[in-house]
Amino acid sequence: MPEADNSAQLRRLSAVKGMNDIFPPQSALWDWFEEEVRHTMGLFGFGSIRTPILEYTQLFVKGTGETTDIVEKEMYSFEDRLNGEQLTLRPENTPGVVRAAIEHNLTYDGGKRLYYVGPMFRHERPQRGRYRQFYQVGVEALGFAGAEVDAEVIVLAAQLLARLGLPGIRVELNSLGIASERQRHRAALIEYFLRHAELLDSDATRRLQTNPLRILDTKNPALQAMVAQAPHLLDYLGEPSLKHFEMVQRLLTASTVPWSVNPRAVRGLDYYNHTVFEFITDELGAQGTLCGGGRYDGLFEMLGGKPCAAVGWGMGIERVLDLLQVRGRVATPSVCDAYAVVPQESALPAAFQTMNALRNVGVRVQMHAAATAGVASMKSQFKRADASGARFALVFGAEELAAGEVTVKSLRDAAAPQIRRSLGQVSAWAGTLQSHT
Ligand code: ATP
Ligand code: MG
Repeated sequence: MPEADNSAQLRRLSAVKGMNDIFPPQSALWDWFEEEVRHTMGLFGFGSIRTPILEYTQLFVKGTGETTDIVEKEMYSFEDRLNGEQLTLRPENTPGVVRAAIEHNLTYDGGKRLYYVGPMFRHERPQRGRYRQFYQVGVEALGFAGAEVDAEVIVLAAQLLARLGLPGIRVELNSLGIASERQRHRAALIEYFLRHAELLDSDATRRLQTNPLRILDTKNPALQAMVAQAPHLLDYLGEPSLKHFEMVQRLLTASTVPWSVNPRAVRGLDYYNHTVFEFITDELGAQGTLCGGGRYDGLFEMLGGKPCAAVGWGMGIERVLDLLQVRGRVATPSVCDAYAVVPQESALPAAFQTMNALRNVGVRVQMHAAATAGVASMKSQFKRADASGARFALVFGAEELAAGEVTVKSLRDAAAPQIRRSLGQVSAWAGTLQSHT
């Protein structure tokens, strides 16, 4: 073998920058999170949808919007070498879900309530709460026009966070009204910004023509004071839009979700109308938005479908788990009920039969196995059994097996008697092994 260039080798073998491995015990927190997600979605009647991670680039250019940060600078896009197609790793999943809904005519017999959990990809500067592969849980309620569904999805997010042990996260709301209202506001906004043109930075100057609303979203401190005085979109809303927004607020109040109106919250995506919202915490530094979403009634048509009302949100899983850890939650790795100690190789077939019978009735059993082939000493097997956290050891000794039995030994209570159990009647004693935590 040629001498390895160590640094190059290590670089080649590391994960891609900004992309994380998740493994025990941390992965237990992720598993638990996903179980709570599926449970909560069930409580609200949402069904899961799984769409491809790879989509045609055009989907996001048209759907997410050409002038958004995502499309302008964050997408992992490439050409398929084999056929020249332009593809993109999904930076968000709303366009993919809407594409699937159009392609399969999912709303032909009425609205659909859908959710997903999965990885998204954005080429951003990696930092706390901001990764290049990150995970979102999201909901999309398709085919419902009423304000009560805006409120429903917000309540769903609040309830999910509460179930996870994060009640009372503050929700900031705004309404973007309808297109004609945004047009009138846009004109007023451009006029206002032109009057303060000398203050605008290069980003804002560029956005003045493409997407002036997004200037309200600026992170530049030098612009804050000027932007704070800019005309509010809320002042341009007509009666139906205001009524819609007020209903959302009433239903959130009735659901004890803590909300406030932030007239400058515009969200970074182009497809929103009416209600937009973010769940925000002050405990995570700069990346404090846990969940963002809103209504996007125009997206179906933008993607070539028939008009269809829709509302949804996306929640960043890393940020939620980070907040849980900030608040002191630790990952508890999954632990087996019993640990099988096998003193001799000849006992393995009987041990396998018994372990499988136990697993078939729901007992979690881990078998001893060592790094080197062959049978480990009883001492080292018991050391591992203790370290495993299991409550019981099952000892498949030669003497026990000759009698058609296994010894059950408590690993928590040294004074507890060792009990012999019959291998032929596993279901009769399996229940005594199960911890009811
Ligand atoms: P931000 O303003 O923080 O960039 P965003 O508006 O781009 O967020 P959305 O597109 O609304 O985010 O995505 C919904 C949620 O996904 C965010 O509120 C956040 O919790 C999470 N999220 C977005 N980008 C990332 C990322 N790069 N890494 C981790 N989580 C992210
Ligand atoms: Mg972003």
